[in-house]
Amino acid sequence: MASRRSLHGAHPSTEVLTRGFDPRLSVGSARPAVFRSSTYVFSSPEAAERAFALLTGRAELEPGEQPDLIYSRFNHPNAEILEDQIVPLEEGAAWAIAFNSGMAAIMTTLLALLKPGDALVYTIPLYGGTQHLVHELLEPLNIRCIPVIAGHSAEIDEAIRSTPGLKAVFIETPANPTMVMTDIKRAALTAALLDPKPAVIVDNTFLGPAFQHPLTLGADLVVYSATKYLGGFSDLLAGVVLGVDSAPDKPIRSRRGLFGNILQPDECWILDGRLPTVSLRMNRQSKNAQRIAEGLVKRPEIRHIYYPTLFDDPEQIRIRLSQCDYPGAMIALDLHGGKPAAFEFLRSIRLAHNAVSLGGMETLVCHPATTTHAGCSEEERRIAGITDGLVRVSAGVEDWRDLLRDFEQALDRVSEFLASQAQTSR
Ligand SMILES: *Cc1c(COP(=O)(O)O)cnc(C)c1O
Repeated sequence: MASRRSLHGAHPSTEVLTRGFDPRLSVGSARPAVFRSSTYVFSSPEAAERAFALLTGRAELEPGEQPDLIYSRFNHPNAEILEDQIVPLEEGAAWAIAFNSGMAAIMTTLLALLKPGDALVYTIPLYGGTQHLVHELLEPLNIRCIPVIAGHSAEIDEAIRSTPGLKAVFIETPANPTMVMTDIKRAALTAALLDPKPAVIVDNTFLGPAFQHPLTLGADLVVYSATKYLGGFSDLLAGVVLGVDSAPDKPIRSRRGLFGNILQPDECWILDGRLPTVSLRMNRQSKNAQRIAEGLVKRPEIRHIYYPTLFDDPEQIRIRLSQCDYPGAMIALDLHGGKPAAFEFLRSIRLAHNAVSLGGMETLVCHPATTTHAGCSEEERRIAGITDGLVRVSAGVEDWRDLLRDFEQALDRVSEFLASQAQTSR
C-alpha cells in the first residue's frame, strides 16, 4: 500500500499530495479508501511466516519487499498512507509513526528510549499530561527525571553534561502558555558531545510542522499532538512521532504494537486529508494572531502580552529569529485584576469560545491557572509565569478584525468590572 511512486525531491506541498498512495490498490479512487479491517488475509502460509519474522525482528526487510499485512494493532494501510504522506511536511524526517493521541506518541517514545536506571532531562513548563507522565510513570519506574527551566540555555547544557545515564532530552518549545523558547540547536550540540549520545526529542506541537524544524537543528525526534494544528478542526485525537534516518523507529513501532495505541483507520484517513492544508491554515492563524496581539498591545487592562513578535528579552528574540519562521497563533494575555478580571474576560467574549486545546479553525480562549495548569504547584506556576490573570488564546481562521473587536469589547467589560471593584472596595 505504501507505494513509493512520488516524484522524488518535490516540495513538501507537492509531496504530501503525490506520495504514499497508489490509486490502483484502491480500485482507482483518487483519494485513499478506508480499510476498516482488524485482520488481513495472507497470500500464502509462507508469506504469513515471513510477515511474523519481520514483525518480531527475526528477519530484515529486503529492498523493495512488500510484506503481507497481519493485524491492525501492528499496522494497517491507512496508517501506512498517513505515515508516508506526513514525512515530507517535517523537514529532515525519514519516517513517521501514528498514534491515537499526542500523549500516546510521547509515552510510547519515552518508554522505547528509557529503562529503569536511565535519566531524562526535560524543560519546564511541560504540557500537563507530559508532566504527569514524568511524575506518575517514569519516576516510579526508577527513571531519573531532571527538570530545567525553558530558555535557560546554560542550565540545560549543564544538566545534559552532568547527568549520568542520560538517554533522552525532551524539549517543549515554545513553552505553554507563555511562549518561552528553548534553543534546540544548542541543546542538540551539547548532547552530541556525549557518548553514547542521548536522543533529543522536541514537542513541536505549537509551531510545527510549518514554522519550526527541529530535525534540521540537530534533534533526533519530534513528537506531535496531531489533535492540534495537524488535525486542525478540533474533531479528532491523534499523535505522531517523526525521526531522522539514524533515529531508531523499530523500538517505538514495536511498543505501539504492544500497547495497542496505533491510530485507527478512520482517524488516519481524516488526518491524512488535513495534511495538504496544514501550512495554509497555520499561516492564516499566525497572521491573525500577530494582528490581534499587536492590536491589543496598548490596552491598559493588559499587564503583559506574551507573543513571539513582542518579546523584549534579547536572548529570546535571538532564539525566535534563529529557529522559527513565523510567530504562530498562540497568545497569552496577563490581565490586571487577577482571576476575577480573567473570568470577566472569558464571560464577555462573544465570537471566541472558552475552551482548552488549540490549533483548530475556531478561536479558543482558556484560563490556564484553573484549567490546563491547575495541577501544577504554585511554585511551578510562578516559574512558568502563569498568574491568576493570565488567559491563553489560540487564534483561529476567522477574520482577524472581528476577533480583535471581540477581544476589545471583552476588555472594555474588564475595565468596567475593575472600576466597579475599585468603587466597592473604597
Ligand atoms: C495537547 C498537547 C499534548 C497532548 O496531546 P493529546 O493529543 O491531547 O494527547 C502534548 N503536547 C502539547 C504541547 C500539547 O499541546
